[in-house]
Amino acid sequence: MQPIDKRGSVPFDPHYDPITARALGPGSDYAPTYWIGTAGPAPEGDGPVRRDMDVDVAVIGSGYTGLSTAIHLAKEHGVKATVLEANGVAYGCSTRNGGQAQISAGRLKRSQWIDRWGLDVARGLHNEMVEAFALFRGLLRDHDIQCDPQDGGHYYIAHKAGVMPTLGAEAKLLRDTFGYDARMLSRDELFQTAVRDQEAQGAMWEADGLGIHAAKLAFGYLRAARELGATVHPDSPVQGWELKNGVHHLRTPGGIVRARRVAVATAAYATRSLHGRLRDRLMPIMSNSIVTRALTPSELEAVGIRTLSPLTDTRTLRHYYRLLPDNRLQIGSRAAITGRDAANPVHLNGLREGMARKFPALRGIDLDYSWWGWVDVSHDMMPRITGLPDVPGLFYSLGYGGNGVMYSAMAGRRLAQLVAGKSVPDLPIFNTELPHEGWRTPFRRLGQWGLYHLYHYRDERT
Ligand SMILES: Cc1cc2nc3c(=O)[nH]c(=O)nc-3n(C[C@H](O)[C@H](O)[C@H](O)COP(=O)(O)OP(=O)(O)OC[C@H]3O[C@@H](n4cnc5c(N)ncnc54)[C@H](O)[C@@H]3O)c2cc1C
Repeated sequence: MQPIDKRGSVPFDPHYDPITARALGPGSDYAPTYWIGTAGPAPEGDGPVRRDMDVDVAVIGSGYTGLSTAIHLAKEHGVKATVLEANGVAYGCSTRNGGQAQISAGRLKRSQWIDRWGLDVARGLHNEMVEAFALFRGLLRDHDIQCDPQDGGHYYIAHKAGVMPTLGAEAKLLRDTFGYDARMLSRDELFQTAVRDQEAQGAMWEADGLGIHAAKLAFGYLRAARELGATVHPDSPVQGWELKNGVHHLRTPGGIVRARRVAVATAAYATRSLHGRLRDRLMPIMSNSIVTRALTPSELEAVGIRTLSPLTDTRTLRHYYRLLPDNRLQIGSRAAITGRDAANPVHLNGLREGMARKFPALRGIDLDYSWWGWVDVSHDMMPRITGLPDVPGLFYSLGYGGNGVMYSAMAGRRLAQLVAGKSVPDLPIFNTELPHEGWRTPFRRLGQWGLYHLYHYRDERT
């Protein structure tokens, strides 16, 4: 494994688990990811909170969502936000993901949007995703964010023959109903043009899909937010929260931040104690990621990846993978259920085996990086960017379900609009709250264990 830049006074805790943890931060090193290992030093923040302060808008969490919220508050509403981060900037998912920008948010397909909400709402959601992708590209361009973007669409790889008809139907729906450029590739076409994934039976190609360098994107957002006047405080976890006379009192180790309006952008990383109204509205799901050493020319030939754009397979417990610009291969998939079990070799071996099934030439290859992170999955598989009617001045954007690299840019813009008292589109991701788990809460991990077995059976055996 490669060493990474050390930043904190506290070693990185690979077993952090948001369901059981009492605190997050301050002072932790980053997770040992390829992105942190290759991004160069993180740009300056504004240092931890060191005294009590009164601010207009506080944003909790400095991942893509929190930083995009700060950027759009400044750009579109003239508000200079104060961002509070428990550890280093973008300590959570935003420096641990697969770097795949896709034209989606949450875990549902277009056909599932139609089943749930009908065609008009599905069209509204689709338009929101199209607008979001344009906004995302615009942010990279306008703020000169050098995050090594690799354009070329997204490949949705059929991991078994049985899924090809469903994939074909989804591509047709995208074309005919949404007017979106999606098409099917046979196994031969896929092998010739994109990848020699030995499991693949064909694929659906979507026109939008971008591979990015995850940490460079986060650090680019940080620079942009600060240039626009936002203040970003690392190592300032919110450890207590009281609402007094319409003012939110956010307690950090260095002082209390008093804010009239608060935007929560903590994804899966917040502890359960952050705020009672937000507790248990997300299911934190762990995802593993590995990066190999650079592939040799013969390995590259065997793997046959002729694109740098993102690839995902059709398993429910899906694999997401890419060839990185330096010829390393990155691949990720499901991981442990609890933080305590995160480093169990069985999970790393499972991911290695998944890679070897796709690319037998890479069986046993040395790895340069291995890490994991928590994904914020909502109980109905769709995100929410909304306010709480009974708590004045509190808004949140949570629940992208492992599909937030692209959409978090727009989510931050929408969250900024809500904070500024402006209207947002009339869509269920904005006008309803994240559902709660209710009586199932104590059994959620047992349920997850059962579902993993069911999904594995469906993915591999049927
Ligand atoms: C392994 C992995 C792979 C992924 N791959 C992809 C992918 O390829 N494509 C894709 O679209 N999405 C992917 N995702 C999801 C994507 O990374 C996220 O949707 C996105 O980064 C969310 O950004 P965020 O800002 O909402 O959350 P985060 O980046 O997680 O930021 C939340 C921040 O809040 C901070 N925080 C928490 N509690 C507090 C507190 N009390 N006080 C102060 N700060 C606090 C945390 O430290 C953290 O930095 C992946 C996620 C993981 C874990």
